[in-house]
Amino acid sequence: MEYISANRYFRECFGRKVYKVAIDGGFTCPNRDGTRGNGGCIFCSGRGSGDFASDPRLSIADQVKQGIDLIKSKLPKGEEVGFMAYFQNFTNTYADIEVLRSKYIEAIEISEVVGISIATRPDCIDDDIANLLSELNRIKPIWIELGLQTIKDESVRYIWRGYDNKEYVEAINRLSQHGFHIITHVILGLPGETVDDMLATVRWVKEVACDFSDKPLQFGIKLQLLHVIRGTDLETDFRNGLFDTLTLEEYVEIVRRAVRIIDNKLVIHRITGDGDKRTLVAPMWSTDKKRVLNTINRALRET
Ligand code: SF4
Repeated sequence: MEYISANRYFRECFGRKVYKVAIDGGFTCPNRDGTRGNGGCIFCSGRGSGDFASDPRLSIADQVKQGIDLIKSKLPKGEEVGFMAYFQNFTNTYADIEVLRSKYIEAIEISEVVGISIATRPDCIDDDIANLLSELNRIKPIWIELGLQTIKDESVRYIWRGYDNKEYVEAINRLSQHGFHIITHVILGLPGETVDDMLATVRWVKEVACDFSDKPLQFGIKLQLLHVIRGTDLETDFRNGLFDTLTLEEYVEIVRRAVRIIDNKLVIHRITGDGDKRTLVAPMWSTDKKRVLNTINRALRET
């Protein structure tokens, strides 16, 4: 069973391999500053789910350039590649419109940057922000990432997501009209969720995408294994024995079924998680990314 990976899709869009450069735009989040909540989502690390991003004390342009230099230093000399500036930490549309504009422009103006990817929440995209992004989308293409995680009501409350599923649909409606690429982030393995619950979320994400766009592959999905990160409230529940994380075998089987549901209607931007080994509490098997990907790919080939 084949799937359309981000790597494959970016090659089709840009004619070369595209690397993401994670940057910290210095934002906060309405789920942390008291607007929607104070503690953040239950799984969120103190860095706003962006543990690989660059040093926020640097300017956006310097962060991007530093990330590009680091990646290039590991590539064969002369290899033609592109870079996607990835605003990863916290909620990257949560600021005054002119602040947003100047931060995005700093990244867009770097010649090797072929596009920008912006991680945010559905409740943080109003018409003004959509219009700004639309303006910038004419200069370089924009990918918007929305952290949905799940559609199950009990789970939404448990993880303290701080917005309801209706707000996600409204954001998709607003964003799809502007023709942005939209990626939805889904977590597999949330406490209390059955395999059917997880697959119901994947199915719903696909159905909403198909309802709002007939443009092939405008939409994508990230399948993220639940990671328990040190210092989070999720860690407390885990240590108190309130739930267990998925085994590799369980995860691979869920991914296999999710890929079948997605049925090449969405680009799969992530098929496992990128846990930071220094702060990961569980599941530790996920730190062996090569083994995880090989196991998933073997299972998909045999399907
Ligand atoms: S919305 Fe994102 S940044 Fe905000 S608390 Fe949740 S995971 Fe963290």
